[in-house]
Amino acid sequence: MFSPPPNRAIQRAFLQVRAPSAQIMLTDLTKTHLGDVQNRYFRLFVPVKRSRLRLPTSLPEFSSLRHHATLSDSPVLAAQRLGGYWTDHNLAAICHLAACNLRCPYCYVEYRHLSAHDSFRSTASDLVTAFVKIRDQRRTAGEQLSILRISGGEPLLAPDFIADVFDEMAQRGLTETCLLKVESKMTAFTYALSASPAGTAERLRAIGDRMAVHVTAHPTPDDADWPRLLAGLEQALALGLDVYPAIGGAGWSDEHLRRTYAALAGLSADLPLRLAVRPFNLSYDVLQTRRDLARFAVSNGVSPSMRWESILKEMRGRRYLGDPRHEVPLRTP
Ligand code: SF4
Repeated sequence: MFSPPPNRAIQRAFLQVRAPSAQIMLTDLTKTHLGDVQNRYFRLFVPVKRSRLRLPTSLPEFSSLRHHATLSDSPVLAAQRLGGYWTDHNLAAICHLAACNLRCPYCYVEYRHLSAHDSFRSTASDLVTAFVKIRDQRRTAGEQLSILRISGGEPLLAPDFIADVFDEMAQRGLTETCLLKVESKMTAFTYALSASPAGTAERLRAIGDRMAVHVTAHPTPDDADWPRLLAGLEQALALGLDVYPAIGGAGWSDEHLRRTYAALAGLSADLPLRLAVRPFNLSYDVLQTRRDLARFAVSNGVSPSMRWESILKEMRGRRYLGDPRHEVPLRTP
């Protein structure tokens, strides 16, 4: 697949997250307004929360809410990988890489934290040590922390760091009891991989199916970054990464959705069955000063996920989130 060359935003963000000696720039979360911050590395997050209507709607018991609730299924995947039930894995520690090449109006991160302000250097070892410390604290409090999530910013600006974190977890025996989850937008991945140390692709290939990469498409099929997103997804699939795509969908036309179906199916026949349609939460305080948010609000009428379900039924005879997403196979053409 053709991948457009990196734009200046990608190159700038790539440089902003890099530091010497296998270190990377993380956002100091104590200098943010994000909730449940534990220390400068991590904040805690409960993926499935009924009061916020974040539910594992790919499970039969929640299926009737699939068009009303926001899909949140990382605990389901964690249970499949690690054993137990999803309720055993409903706590994540999240760190943020300190830059992003995009500036989405609905982003819940303050823009200054997407360009390395309030950042600090960390090695993978430092990060995992901080995770273990919180995990021990939660265990003492009677809770299980089993998801380490790398967010941002754009984590795949530093694919070598992702591999470093996985290796560090493996060396400490954590990969048997913890899931490494990466949140990406994929638009910078092909460039970042080509600019990373030699051997990074092979390292990712070795661990690709042992972590989870949640990919939110922020560009629509009309946007200049769309080909970069598809090229990144294609690269990720070729490396065997376990990818879980999502879109907001509000403001997307039916043609956008149909082009998305065709693009995903072209990459992997069943990939459209893994797509989550999750309109963005526009209630964050940080959004009060942002402009151009109206087009991302869900309008009255047929919801984006219902429109997506119509396409799935037409093309595949399947309904939206008919199976837990990890049970949908990834096959390259
Ligand atoms: S891609 Fe994600 S992190 Fe970057 S600006 Fe958009 S919402 Fe924020």
